[in-house]
Amino acid sequence: MKIVILLGAPGCGKGTMAGRLSASNPTFHHVSSGDLLRTAVKTQSPHGLEADGFMKRGELVPDSLIAQMIAEYMVTLPNECTLLLDGFPRTLIQAEMLDKALAGSRATLTHVVLLDVPDPILIDRIAGRRVCPACGAGYHVVSIPSKVAGLCDVCGTTLVVRKDDNPKTVQYRLEVYKAQTMPLVAYYDARGLLTRITAYDFPINDIVEKLRHVIS
Ligand code: ADP
Ligand code: ZN
Repeated sequence: MKIVILLGAPGCGKGTMAGRLSASNPTFHHVSSGDLLRTAVKTQSPHGLEADGFMKRGELVPDSLIAQMIAEYMVTLPNECTLLLDGFPRTLIQAEMLDKALAGSRATLTHVVLLDVPDPILIDRIAGRRVCPACGAGYHVVSIPSKVAGLCDVCGTTLVVRKDDNPKTVQYRLEVYKAQTMPLVAYYDARGLLTRITAYDFPINDIVEKLRHVIS
C-alpha cells in the first residue's frame, strides 16, 4: 500500500481533491478523519461519544482516539492501493504514531502534499461550505453548487452546514491548525517527502490534476 498525506488548513480542499481523485480511479482510497469522526458521532459509537465535545468546540480529539480509528480503517483496505489520508496526521504525536505503525507494515509513505491557501480564502470557503449528512459529499454555494439548490447531487438529501463551520469556531480551528499541524510541514520537508501545491486561483480540476501528477 502507498500512503499519501494531504496537509492543509481547514477549507483548503483536501476532501474535495481526495474525493475527486478516488472517484476517478478505483485504486485510490480516500479516508477523511473528520468524516470517520462525524459518522462515529452520528451513530453514537464509543469513539463518537468521546469525540463529540472536542469537535463541537473546534478542538482536536485525543491523538490515540483518532490514531486507533485510522488503524481500524486501514486494515479493511486491499494491499494494492494508494491511500489518501485527509486530516490525519494532524499533530507531531500522530505523525510519530503513523511512522511507528508503518515501520512494521507493508505500507509506505510516498508523498506528503501541502495544499496552500491564504486565510481570507479559507474563511470564505468554509462560510459557503455545505455538506451532505447522508453520503458526505461536499459543496460550496458559489464555487461548487449542487444542481438543485440545497439538495445533494448524489443522493438527494438536504444539505447542511457543519456544526463547527460557524465563524467563531473557524477562527479557532485556523489557530489550532497553525499551532498543532503546521509543524508537520517541516517534519516531512526534512525527510524530502513534501510538495507544496497552490490550491486557489485555479479551477478545481487543474488543482486535482496537479495533485495527481505529484503523487503518481
Ligand atoms: P477541517 O479540516 O475543515 O477542520 P475535518 O472534517 O478534517 O475538518 O475535521 C473536523 C474536526 O474533527 C476537527 O476540528 C477535529 O475536532 C476533528 N479531527 C479531525 N481529524 C483529526 C485528527 N487527526 N486529530 C484530532 N482531531 C481531528
Ligand atoms: Zn448525499
